[in-house]
Order: sequence, then C-alpha cells, then structure tokens
Amino acid sequence: MSGKSRNFVRIKDLEEKMSDEKLTKHDIAYMKMAHEWAKLSYCKRKKVGALIVKDRRIISDGYNGTPSGFENVCEDEHGLTKWHVLHAEANAISKVAASTQNSEGASLYVTLSPCKECSKLIYQAGIKKVFYAEAYNDMTGLEFLKKAGVKVIQIKNDDGQ
Ligand SMILES: [Zn+2]
Repeated sequence: MSGKSRNFVRIKDLEEKMSDEKLTKHDIAYMKMAHEWAKLSYCKRKKVGALIVKDRRIISDGYNGTPSGFENVCEDEHGLTKWHVLHAEANAISKVAASTQNSEGASLYVTLSPCKECSKLIYQAGIKKVFYAEAYNDMTGLEFLKKAGVKVIQIKNDDGQ
C-alpha cells in the first residue's frame, strides 16, 4: 500500500516536471509580447518588458521606467540609471496591486532575468512561474526564486521562431 502511493507520487512529480519543461505556443507568444513591451521603454541603457499572466489572461504588463508623473528619463547626466527607476517586473506587480486582480498563482514573462530586489517581490506576490529570455549577469535573483519554489524557465530569443 505505502509502496503504491510512493510510486504514485513519483509519477505525478515526473508528469509535472515534464509539463513544466515543455514550452507551449502560448508561452512563446507571451514572451514575444514581453519583447514588444520592452520596446516601449524610454530607458536607454536597457529596455525590459514584462507580462503577468493568470488563467491564460494577461492581468498586467510593464516595462522599466520612472514612476507615473515623473520625467520620462531613466539615466542621469553620467548615463547611470536613476535610483527611482522601476524595473519592468516591479512595474507589472505594482499595477496588479493597484487593480482588482491578484497575482497569486500567476506566471511572469520577462525579457531579462529578475534582479534580487524584484525576485523578492515576485515570490511575495504569489507568482509561481517565471519565464525569462536573457540571463542577467547577477544570478542571485534566479537562485533565490528556485530556492523559494518558483519555477524558473528560460525562453531564449530564438525559441519558436
Ligand atoms: Zn529588478
């Protein structure tokens, strides 16, 4: 009896693992949209786009930029990113917070893997899967997400094209 149930759990785990590793056409399409969103950013150093999807619906979107009402300039006179610039995923998560939606169990599609600060927000916002395109040079954020039980999947720019 106990042997049977253990076996059952193992097969379930395997199925879950397989379905997570296989990208759907929707995953690829959402990532393409995230790339389109990135183009909307007025930041010069780096343009990043993000979408939050829940139950096959886009519940939020964002790109990196200054908060609403602030001048649309991300870099200071030395070309450095201003401290108050919000990252794409932080913008998308804040938009959910200001709406009637919630991101519990949602997926995030972001063109650059999340930084440490955003990773904490992603986890705390209840997001369960993170799809990213380009890997950020600091992988601490991704490591944190994996440790926290968030599924992290890369969709490279040439996937599905
Ligand atoms: Zn960030």
